[in-house]
Amino acid sequence: MKFADLHLHSHFSDGTFSPEELVGHGARLGFAALALTDHDSVEGCARVAELCKAAGITFISGVELTAEHEDTELHILGYLVDMQNQKLLTEIAKFQVVRQNRIREMVAKLNGLNMPLEAESVFALANCKSPGRPHVARALVKAGLVASSDEAFGRFLKKNRPAWVPKAKISAREAIELVHQAGGLAIMAHPGLNRTDDVIPAMVDAGLDGIECFHTKHSTAMSERYLEIADKYHLLVTGGSDCHGFSKGKPLIGTIKLPYEHVEKLMSKAESRKSKMENPQSAIRNPQ
Ligand code: AMP
Ligand code: FE
Ligand code: FE
Ligand code: ZN
Repeated sequence: MKFADLHLHSHFSDGTFSPEELVGHGARLGFAALALTDHDSVEGCARVAELCKAAGITFISGVELTAEHEDTELHILGYLVDMQNQKLLTEIAKFQVVRQNRIREMVAKLNGLNMPLEAESVFALANCKSPGRPHVARALVKAGLVASSDEAFGRFLKKNRPAWVPKAKISAREAIELVHQAGGLAIMAHPGLNRTDDVIPAMVDAGLDGIECFHTKHSTAMSERYLEIADKYHLLVTGGSDCHGFSKGKPLIGTIKLPYEHVEKLMSKAESRKSKMENPQSAIRNPQ
């Protein structure tokens, strides 16, 4: 049976794997399709696409956006987006600036707590345009100020801990629209992890295309519930490991094996959306 992992992070955001390492693991584990879904970045997509092509693996371009709907945080995965789409690239660049400023604010708070960390050391460690809390955690470990990333999150970086800084977020409706205008499909990431079940109907109304039913942090019962919800609202089904390399302990790639039929459905919906966008008249004549 062919299978896929549609949720992977690289060192272009808070993962530790390079594109080469990611595709190397994907090929070794026998994946037929892989998606790269870095936070607020599509920078790694071109290289991962090339490597997948050489390895005979289907590549799905992707991005993970942090969004909110009425005070609920949710993550929107944008799949099959045009990696050159100007509006997407412009908005992503803004999110990256927000992330960089947030790192400075978190470091200032840490300094106020007698943790002598410099923002520059976080940026040097992150070595990417889309830095996040895992980089702050790793920089604290590297500086010998905490014993582990878990300790850094637990003591300082988790929501409502003393060095936590809220992140300015795009509205979920805007995130879905941003993905759509870039030719992509918008999927709600790990609803079980973010506890976003209640906002699914509003997101469907906003044009959500699917939900990530299979995720490392979803129990079997949760996945079954999300499959039922996907069926009820006629949504696409996706799944992925959310592998961050060694950023959070053991690499997770290989823990989720999404049946390939879901990749085919994803690609065919993107194709039909694209042809409707290019030829709206035929969409009116042949409504789906
Ligand atoms: P950010 O986008 O900067 O808010 O950071 C979010 C990233 O931090 C995500 O990849 C999460 O998986 C990771 N993260 C969130 N909470 C924790 C935690 N308690 N321990 C380790 N990593 C976490
Ligand atoms: Fe992450
Ligand atoms: Fe996420
Ligand atoms: Zn993720």
